Amino acid sequence: MSSSFPHPAQLYHGLFRSFVRADGHPALARHEAPPASVPDPETGKPLRVATLDAGGPAICPSCTAQGFGGFVSFEPELRLAYACPQCRQFVWLPGA
Ligand SMILES: [Zn+2]
Repeated sequence: MSSSFPHPAQLYHGLFRSFVRADGHPALARHEAPPASVPDPETGKPLRVATLDAGGPAICPSCTAQGFGGFVSFEPELRLAYACPQCRQFVWLPGA
């Protein structure tokens, strides 16, 4: 995709940082100091981050590119989000 990236501090709510793997693919890693919560996209209320998982291959639900992005789960609600290194979206997945 193209070039107007959000400010790095805003990217993925600061949960992940992006880097380029040795094989040239963009990938994400856990941020060293991730926030404890991120705002709910609908209500704006803070959702507590339960787990951060980065670096595994996954298909982005937004741009459908395969990439090495990051998954976030939240508590107490069973919500999941995917951070995409290709389109740089923070994609909320349908709740379980
Ligand atoms: Zn994507």
